[in-house]
Amino acid sequence: MGESLNKFEQFNNVFKILSKCTDDYLFILDFIEDHYNITERSVEVFNIPCADFYNASEIINKAVHPEDRAMLANNLEMIKEGKISEHDLEYKWLNKNGNPVWISCRGQVIYNSQGEAHYLVGRISELGRKNKIDSITGLYREVRLRQNILNMDRFASKGFLLLIGIDNFKDINERYGKEVGNTTLKGLAKCVTKAVGNMAEVYRMSGDEIMVFCKGISSVLNDPAKEMYKRIRAAVDERISEKGYRLFYTISGGYVYFTEDDDFGLNYIERAEFALRLAKIRGKNMSVCYKQNDYNDYVQKLEMQEELRKAVENNFEGFELYYQPIVNMEKACIYGAEALLRWKNNRFGMVSPGIFIPMLEESGLIIPVGRWVIEEAMQQCLKWQEICPGFRVNINISFVQLKKSNVISDIDTYIEKYGFSSSNVLFEITESGELESGYAIQNILESFHRRSLNLAIDDFGTGYSNLRYIKEMMFNLVKIDQAFIRGIKSSQYDYMVVKQFTELAHSLNLKVCYEGVETEEDFKCVKELKPDYIQGFYFSRPVPVAEFEEKYLGKENVF
Ligand code: C2E
Ligand code: MG
Ligand code: MG
Repeated sequence: MGESLNKFEQFNNVFKILSKCTDDYLFILDFIEDHYNITERSVEVFNIPCADFYNASEIINKAVHPEDRAMLANNLEMIKEGKISEHDLEYKWLNKNGNPVWISCRGQVIYNSQGEAHYLVGRISELGRKNKIDSITGLYREVRLRQNILNMDRFASKGFLLLIGIDNFKDINERYGKEVGNTTLKGLAKCVTKAVGNMAEVYRMSGDEIMVFCKGISSVLNDPAKEMYKRIRAAVDERISEKGYRLFYTISGGYVYFTEDDDFGLNYIERAEFALRLAKIRGKNMSVCYKQNDYNDYVQKLEMQEELRKAVENNFEGFELYYQPIVNMEKACIYGAEALLRWKNNRFGMVSPGIFIPMLEESGLIIPVGRWVIEEAMQQCLKWQEICPGFRVNINISFVQLKKSNVISDIDTYIEKYGFSSSNVLFEITESGELESGYAIQNILESFHRRSLNLAIDDFGTGYSNLRYIKEMMFNLVKIDQAFIRGIKSSQYDYMVVKQFTELAHSLNLKVCYEGVETEEDFKCVKELKPDYIQGFYFSRPVPVAEFEEKYLGKENVF
């Protein structure tokens, strides 16, 4: 007994010195005397009466979070039975207010001469202080997830990572303030923890994202990650309803499975992030499973975007304008041509405009490329006017050019540079919701009108605009979308729509062009409806300059 008290005191004295050098709490537990001593400072944090007490098992049991009491008791029991000689646990104590405090507790067992476990000597550190616990949600941080993934046996089990994100979280922060943002996040953390139960671990990631890490599922066939997402979503909906819809939000999820055959590692976190991004792109409030193909497409898109950028830098290498004749129906002659952009690349070959034009728009590259198109098409048109006086060219203009560049000043520059007559060019703008998006666009369209620059509304019928509105917006020509023309022979409805459109446009003094007239049958059918112009494969596909000159320039009586 004397010996043991001495040892206890010896440790205690050393600890008093050491505790000045660390934020950790140093402790000694005497199993035989049921005596405990811990750094004095800990009394301010934990729910313990003082720093030195007997009856240790009972007092510590009360100081520990109820969820973790059994686990701790079990661990200490194993030490006493000699089954383990080290103590290394992460679990929760309670603070003075009864809230959980995550701690890491590590200790070494010291045996007496009979070989019994006599002391446990070690340190307790508060995980929150070490930045392992997120102060807002009370969840482990991402560092911890990374450690766990690195430490686990990669080929040991089946499971999944499911990343949950709040849709439009930025809006919540901006509209209601950061405080509400944090409360929302805390609420989400509660919902996730509740829905997940003890089936998985939950981590706070960066921003508004929470990761569920589930190991040891029996099969991936019934899509358990999706089921988990649904449960979390239901918990969120329930919470929002309980709170009286004071704040409404939705969540998206991205998940990735791993099995014993996969080389599971940190890159799976990125996969879950990628899947979450897809869920948001695809419309939010849904979950998406990571698929290698989606990722490959994405990478390919990035590579293509990079190639486009290089092509632009290299003096528009690989870009070319094709021309498609536009036929004047009254005079049965070619009235002009639409300039259509093509792009050929060493790696990707000939890429469809339906793919590369949206990419140019997304990256803003459509602005320099659009300028190049205007200049090229005007120069070409001037050359053709030498053979065919009054030849006209149609040029497509993207909304990005309208909104993000001074396209009118670009046009002015080239008109002046080449002495081009503005009546010989017409600018096509695709119908879309953007048209009605506000005054800015309307102002730009008005300046087209003031400069006597002709405008066409392209793909008409695919958006929601009505013709009177188009007229008010200073358009001169309506190009009816090929989807209607395609349907005209088989669908009475399409036929009637096109007929009505045409008559109405004419009554408003607008010219009409039909796009997508492909066959003789189409042509016969649409002729009766008396459009002003026709464009379509029936006359010609878009062709390169030389072919256009050879086949169509100056050609009279095309039908
Ligand atoms: P768009 O301006 O409506 O051009 C007409 C599209 O319909 C062209 O597709 C043309 O090849 C196609 N087409 C013409 N006649 C027929 C037909 O009889 N049947 C069928 N099935 N299709 C026909 P393309 O060249 O693939 O261009 C697609 C779109 O890309 C264009 O639609 C336009 O919105 C955009 N685009 C093309 N060049 C440019 C450009 O220089 N700048 C901008 N901003 N957009 C462009
Ligand atoms: Mg067009
Ligand atoms: Mg069109």
